[in-house]
Amino acid sequence: MLKIADYEQFDRENAYFGEDLGANVSAEKTYFRTWSPLATAVYLNIYADGTGNNRVETLPFYHSEQGTWYVELLRPLYGYFYTYTYEFDYKNRYETIDIYAKACGINGDRGAVIDFSATNPPEWETTPQPVCPNPCEMVVYECHVRDFSKDVSSGVSPENRGKFAGFTEPDTLCGTQKTCFSHLKELGITHVQLLPVADYATVDETHPDRAYNWGYDPKNYNCLEGSYASDPTVPEVRVREFKQLVCNLHNAGIGVIMDVVYNHTYASDQSAFHKSFPFYYHRSKNGQFTNGSGCGNETASDHAMMRKFMRDSLVFWATEYKIDGFRFDLMGLHDIDTMNYLLEELRKVNPQIILYGEGWTGGESPLHSSRLALKFNAGKMPQIGLFNDNHCGAIKGENFNAYGTGYVSGNIHASATIRRGLAGSCPHWQLHNIAQDACWAMSPAQSMNYVEVHDNLTLWDKLGLSAKHDTEEERIKMDKLCAAILLLSQGVPFFHLGQDFLRTKPREPEEGVAFSELEAIVENSYNAPDYTNSIKWARKQTYHEVFAYVKALIALRRANPLFRLSTQDAVNRHLKFHAADDPNVIVCSLADEQNCFVFGLNPYAAEQWFTIPSEIAGVFCTALDENGQADDSALDRRVKIPPISALVLKRI
Ligand code: CA
Repeated sequence: MLKIADYEQFDRENAYFGEDLGANVSAEKTYFRTWSPLATAVYLNIYADGTGNNRVETLPFYHSEQGTWYVELLRPLYGYFYTYTYEFDYKNRYETIDIYAKACGINGDRGAVIDFSATNPPEWETTPQPVCPNPCEMVVYECHVRDFSKDVSSGVSPENRGKFAGFTEPDTLCGTQKTCFSHLKELGITHVQLLPVADYATVDETHPDRAYNWGYDPKNYNCLEGSYASDPTVPEVRVREFKQLVCNLHNAGIGVIMDVVYNHTYASDQSAFHKSFPFYYHRSKNGQFTNGSGCGNETASDHAMMRKFMRDSLVFWATEYKIDGFRFDLMGLHDIDTMNYLLEELRKVNPQIILYGEGWTGGESPLHSSRLALKFNAGKMPQIGLFNDNHCGAIKGENFNAYGTGYVSGNIHASATIRRGLAGSCPHWQLHNIAQDACWAMSPAQSMNYVEVHDNLTLWDKLGLSAKHDTEEERIKMDKLCAAILLLSQGVPFFHLGQDFLRTKPREPEEGVAFSELEAIVENSYNAPDYTNSIKWARKQTYHEVFAYVKALIALRRANPLFRLSTQDAVNRHLKFHAADDPNVIVCSLADEQNCFVFGLNPYAAEQWFTIPSEIAGVFCTALDENGQADDSALDRRVKIPPISALVLKRI
């Protein structure tokens, strides 16, 4: 058994900082370098295919500098597949894919040597990445590749449904409504955040329709998932098709954010990390994997070569695939120093790169909480965003209680936290001693504002339970008020695919089984069938009113910089809270030298009133009413907000 008493000392003595781990190919030769200081031997296995009994040869690696092993062949190995066999204690041998493999065969069991320069689609070099000087400029839309176009209602051609190529068909329709790629453009979002597209374990790529997964079961961090490709047996195909996806979105001015799952591996002792160097890349205690992820293990970003692995991997995605930003799954398991280092390294590739993540863990980590990238440590990583669960819970009700209500559904006590969220969850001069737990951000750019993500109930399903005694008409108002709060809050608005037309995750019926109201919908749908997860685009027609409203809100936000202030100082200067007749009706103004907006939020089922305060001069008109409409007519200073709605006024 390999034992490392002190990882810091071990890293000081053994870490390798070269840029050539993995396969390196030129016209004259191919060489491989791998790091495993305590291995007693390492072998390179070359195969003719990604699977099957077709080994071409096995070569020994030679000991090289800083715990690395080196082998070279005097020819380019394009078209071949490979694995490594690591030997420990002169007896235990483990064959595994290279953790640095950038392409792979079907199901990710063997690395592939490919020529990346031959995988670029037309216009790849000439299509610029979208400009995003500050995260607050973004409107993020979280999409799962398969959900996006899998259903027949997507209008996507059958061979492309559920694939990367489902993002590249223009002008698809369901009835008269735009779907998929056209929908993204019509809605006006700025960035698509893709659920994991790196290779994951549990969908058999030879029969992708037999299983479904979100993709938080990572297998190969630098390879793409094969089930999204038209042909997962040819390693270049998924690379080319994913680049085409990125290229199409960039062409439309839409940035691409990848959801990355470095915090754990799907397999533990069978993972490539563990076979390459047991208990180095994972955290452990007494020879056991620790489980800070809740998925059976957690990786060790605090170990130098895991940190380097994450850096090398992210730099690869940002460079080879022109990825615009990264969303870190269970970021709270990574250490703060690593996150800040990753930002620094990625900014060298792209000065506008965006990083944010979940500021929590899925279990208990052995690393001290003061070192972890948790939300309450936001001040130690001021350039990295975090999901604002305080704002989310206040708006719609807590996630852990399906029946819990929020501000929009009658819990008016949440109004203090809502005010915090409107100020980007950073300190504001008018908000003293209220909802302090929701005041954690250094700048609004750190606050990822959301009410619905892939996890938990969709907003519409949650309202269906928590507001079941209200009418559908009222629940639609609640849903729209959620969208209004998100887009009127300082920070970064984040929407889930289909949230704009009341996405639902119904459980597939079973013959002879009657579901309870809780069973009839799926909360944790990570491996639920397409019946539950795929987007049913006909809903866009049915609930077009909601879509049109969200679209109008996005347009309003994107047209006016006051809605996306990028610093704490700017928020304190330009955002002001005012009184309404009722203390839980929230009235704010956003003003600079040129423009002034006043908006009011009414959580009550009855209309509410406020008076535009005398300190705000000028005449106001309607910038956005409860139907998303504007009206240039001058209004009285005494203003009515319709039931359960937001009203935005603009100075004429
Ligand atoms: Ca896979």
